[in-house]
Amino acid sequence: MSIVDTRTPDPKKFIKGATGDWEIVIGLEVHAQVTSNAKLFSGASTEFGRDPNSNVSLVDAAMPGMLPVINEECVAQAVRTGLGLKAAINLRSVFDRKNYFYPDLPQGYQISQFKQPIVGEGEILLEMGDGEDVTVGVERLHLEQDAGKSLHDQHATMSFVDLNRSGVALMEIVSKPDLRSGDEAKAYLTKLRTILRYLGTCDGNMDQGSMRADVNVSVRAPGGDFGTRCEIKNVNSIRFVGQAIDYEARRQIGILEDGGSIDQETRLFDPVKGETRSMRSKEEAHDYRYFPDPDLLPLEFDQAYVDALASGLPELPDDKKTRFIADYGLSAYDADILIVERASADFFEEVAKGRDAKLSANWVINELFGRLNKEGLDLGETPVSAAQLGGLVDLVKDGTISGKIAKDLFEILWTEGGDPAEIVETRGMKQVTDLGAIEAEVDKIIAANPEKVEQAKEKPGLLGWFVGQVMKATGGKANPKAVNDLLKSKIGIE
Ligand code: ADP
Ligand code: MG
Repeated sequence: MSIVDTRTPDPKKFIKGATGDWEIVIGLEVHAQVTSNAKLFSGASTEFGRDPNSNVSLVDAAMPGMLPVINEECVAQAVRTGLGLKAAINLRSVFDRKNYFYPDLPQGYQISQFKQPIVGEGEILLEMGDGEDVTVGVERLHLEQDAGKSLHDQHATMSFVDLNRSGVALMEIVSKPDLRSGDEAKAYLTKLRTILRYLGTCDGNMDQGSMRADVNVSVRAPGGDFGTRCEIKNVNSIRFVGQAIDYEARRQIGILEDGGSIDQETRLFDPVKGETRSMRSKEEAHDYRYFPDPDLLPLEFDQAYVDALASGLPELPDDKKTRFIADYGLSAYDADILIVERASADFFEEVAKGRDAKLSANWVINELFGRLNKEGLDLGETPVSAAQLGGLVDLVKDGTISGKIAKDLFEILWTEGGDPAEIVETRGMKQVTDLGAIEAEVDKIIAANPEKVEQAKEKPGLLGWFVGQVMKATGGKANPKAVNDLLKSKIGIE
């Protein structure tokens, strides 16, 4: 691939070495497991967590004479993903054999795509905060088979193999070397995962191995020629990607500043030690003897097929964010929180429908998400439904309850459930807007505290104390604005 540097060096991202500043260059190869019921070339199930070797067909076990048959759903998923990455879709692509020996790969080769992948160049937009936008190039996306898994810890002298994963469809999504920090790499993975989840083409669960990243890292003098890279294989959490990059960049800088040079090699990240270590040098690794798989025809489809898939795509996160800001008047910050998951965006829209959007967003983000977070629950497990939260927002909006009482109501909805309006009615939580009733309380408090009234005339800050007293006396139900206005005029504060 021809490498073009699309970035202007940014001193904020430099690393200080003993001899001067260094710039990190990162490119990611992400393996994303395609969401599909069956494998890429066989009808065996892809279900996670089953007993070893229960998802294995004769094709996956590479019995002699078995023929691969392409799973059209996997093709559709790859095209959808390409469209979601604003990428060129190749109407003709080719499956190749990538030859290598591994005990967990009984075919002796992996079926992959080499020179003609199904998806070409695309891009992913990263918003790094403070208005900094970074567009990261996607080099390609190709389809390939996953391998099985060797198990070395089941027996003292033997290794076992589990072929459940063997033949499962993966999308390998290769970025250009456009990333310049561990934070950018983390933002890239987070955004990619959000897009895949919106599309429903990969569940993005890194802890189950359905998304993992090979992290290519090099360092250079800022804006200089690209340095030699090392590839850190199979990093399986976004946090580890950041740690691996920081460690690896430091390691390379140390070597270069000591007058050494970087060997292009494959390394592994050890999350316990927080270090990378050499796995193999590139020279040993790279003669795969790719050639087109004679068992498979080139994969061809027409533009109408692509267009049909395009018309079925959901609204994507960037578009949703733009719409949330324009239509609901949300801040970019709030919109970002809501759009990370499709489910949270949908939940918000259900609450906000026909209501004050800003108020709805506050209740969804601060109260509901805050509480879910605290209790370690997913939105799918929320005890307060969108309809209930919407009911609460209505009661706040029309002044039936104060913001403070609304929090009590939320607590009741969370622990006991029920209909918000009914709860407020039956438990006497309505805000007192009857000015006469509030005035009576105000008069009582003023009469009982003559010195404080004198002080408040000098120090208007003391008004808060009076407001507190009235609120206490009314069980928090007095309309706070009415209380404030009455107190001010009676005490004589402007
Ligand atoms: P290979 O197939 O041998 O792994 P590629 O040229 O396809 O090599 O690149 C793989 C990944 O390495 C890509 O994500 C690319 O962006 C990244 N990459 C290429 N050159 C560099 C470099 N000098 N520093 C960091 N990453 C790089
Ligand atoms: Mg590679």
